[in-house]
Amino acid sequence: MKDVPNGRYGCNITDRKQADEVLHRLNRQLRAISNCNRVMIQAKDERTLLNDICRIICNEAGYRLAWVGYAEDDVAKTVRPVAWSGYDSGYIANTRLTWDETSEYGQGPAGTVIRSGTPVHIQDFATDTQMIPWRTSALSRGYRSGIALPVKDENKKTFGVLLIYSAEVNAFSEDEIRLLIELSGDLIFGILALRTREALRKSEERLRLEVTRMPIGYIVWDKDFCVVSWNPAAERIFGFTFEEASGRHPYEIIVRPETQSRVEKIWARLLAGDESAHSVNENLTKDGRSIVCEWTNTPLKQEDGTVLGTISMIQEVTERMRAEEEIRKLNQQLEEHVQERTIELSKRNSELNLEIHERKQAEEKLRKAKAQLEETNRVLETLSVTDPLTGLANRRRFDETLAKENARHLRSGAPLSMIMLDIDNFKAFNDNYGHVNGDLCLQRIAGIIAGNVVRPADVAARYGGEEFAFILPETNLDGAIAVAEEIRQGIYNLAIPHAYSSTADFVTASLGVTVVTGKAVISESDIIARADKMLYKAKKGGRNRVEADATGGERQSGTGKNLIQLVWQENFNCGNPLIDAQHRELFRMTNDLLGAIESSTPNFIIAERVTHLLKELLKHFHDEEAILEAVQFPDRKLHAEEHARLYQKSLELARMFNADNPPLGEIYKFLVYEVVFRHMALADRTFYSFIGKVTTENMAASPSQPS
Ligand code: GH3
Ligand code: MG
Ligand code: MG
Repeated sequence: MKDVPNGRYGCNITDRKQADEVLHRLNRQLRAISNCNRVMIQAKDERTLLNDICRIICNEAGYRLAWVGYAEDDVAKTVRPVAWSGYDSGYIANTRLTWDETSEYGQGPAGTVIRSGTPVHIQDFATDTQMIPWRTSALSRGYRSGIALPVKDENKKTFGVLLIYSAEVNAFSEDEIRLLIELSGDLIFGILALRTREALRKSEERLRLEVTRMPIGYIVWDKDFCVVSWNPAAERIFGFTFEEASGRHPYEIIVRPETQSRVEKIWARLLAGDESAHSVNENLTKDGRSIVCEWTNTPLKQEDGTVLGTISMIQEVTERMRAEEEIRKLNQQLEEHVQERTIELSKRNSELNLEIHERKQAEEKLRKAKAQLEETNRVLETLSVTDPLTGLANRRRFDETLAKENARHLRSGAPLSMIMLDIDNFKAFNDNYGHVNGDLCLQRIAGIIAGNVVRPADVAARYGGEEFAFILPETNLDGAIAVAEEIRQGIYNLAIPHAYSSTADFVTASLGVTVVTGKAVISESDIIARADKMLYKAKKGGRNRVEADATGGERQSGTGKNLIQLVWQENFNCGNPLIDAQHRELFRMTNDLLGAIESSTPNFIIAERVTHLLKELLKHFHDEEAILEAVQFPDRKLHAEEHARLYQKSLELARMFNADNPPLGEIYKFLVYEVVFRHMALADRTFYSFIGKVTTENMAASPSQPS
């Protein structure tokens, strides 16, 4: 590389010729520069500009080749030819060039200029070592000297190189170099201007496109508030095309008269430089519709702050506003509705509360009434089955219980006992002490009864006037007799004075006991009849006593017990009612006694029966003797002796009966054979003719099954 030469001008002809030539060349260069400037002003694009300049450099400035290479940022740091002109003959295409400083092809003028940013010139390719790689190729095309000039961007960074080759050695004088540097400077300006213009064009293009495509209305107003720009979205919103709107004042096209004063204020604010005026306005469309628009306005200012006009961005929000208004109304309606419902609900709620309260009260009343009713019913029920005077069960309850228990015991076969009680000589008590005392007496006796008939299933009832009856479920005869005895004793112990009693000084009672066991059907009336019979027996036996039906316990026959009973026959009747009745009674009593003996009845009961029987017997003997005397029966004396003997014998037996081991066999024999068979059936028959009966057939006392 050589510096630009100095002081090479001489004063001889050759020198003058040379000076002329230099001058001529410089003139051509100046013309070229001026042509380049013209080209640059007219240039449309960079490539054309570069080619034009290369062409001018060759054609007008007379150089052999001019070309421009750009420094690529690739790995090889290629210098890529972008424009050229002049004699090339494949030189550019075949020349290897790089701006890589480590490469041998990067040491030439192009690479050096790109790296340094400073012009380089070579006055003789044939001798300059820098040209070694390209020397042959360059010389063969007549390139003898050359200059490389940097092409820089706005930041002074070298991005390319302009290479100019001359056919002459030492072609580049100082002035020439200066002019060429100037030329390259112009070229750089031209390229930058082109690039800036292109960038501006592109950005304008982009902006225009965006404004056109923009979904928002875009209007530019001049300082007189007349339309300058009006994009398709504005056309869609207002209905006016750009052509229709251009140059027109908004009051003429889109502002309603009544909103003009408002718009006026906004406009004034914008002109005063207010950066952004945001507003929501009612506007008019071309077809006269009223629409709502949201406006965002910005003043367009010059650098000195002078306002040139205004840019407006518009969005039609009619639908949105309508929807918002609709929502607002709906919300309001909803709120009102909710309020109404709340009031209604709270009213309904208090009504409900009242209703609940009232219902609760009614329910409470109902509950109380029901409880009262139940209590009343219970009392009524009790009353309906209770005897008011004594508080014991009444006859109704007694009958019901007996029926129920009889059925139950029939199923189980368990013993069911029943007791009948009748107060002794009570008529006399009433007659003498009065009914009030009679009632008091009944009540006190009821107290004794209640105190003894105590098991849960037991029922003590007032059966009739001064008669009581007790049902003792699952109680055998012994148990029932014990209860009856307790009651009898209890009544006696009350020691209620009864001066008119034929029995004692106090009020007493007689009781009849019966029991049914086993599984044969016995009616309730039969059970009552049995107990009644025993009661009657107690009365007969002298009152203030207990009589038990020891025979009738079994509900059914054939249970294995072979009871011996006397069977009364119709022809046993002699015709005298008294004698017949007494005979029948004696028969029955004997059977009772036999039954009691057979069924191991407690001795005290048997003893009682025996005593009773003896009493009856004595009375009968007495009555019979009187009758025989009356009818003048011949053997009446003999008969009376026999009576006395039998009576004596029975007294003896009765005494023996109280011993530990009563002679049951003796009693049996005495009653069956001596009293019934020999005396009643045989001896008595001797007087039958005297009192109208003579039949002796079929008279027998035979062991038989009870009927
Ligand atoms: P016996 O020893 O044979 O039973 O004689 P009795 O006088 O007790 O029998 P009777 O049947 O002749 O009389 C029963 C009396 O009982 C009649 C009546 O004066 C009395 N009587 C019946 N019911 C009531 C009553 O509710 N209150 C009172 N105070 N007396 C009654
Ligand atoms: Mg009575
Ligand atoms: Mg009585």
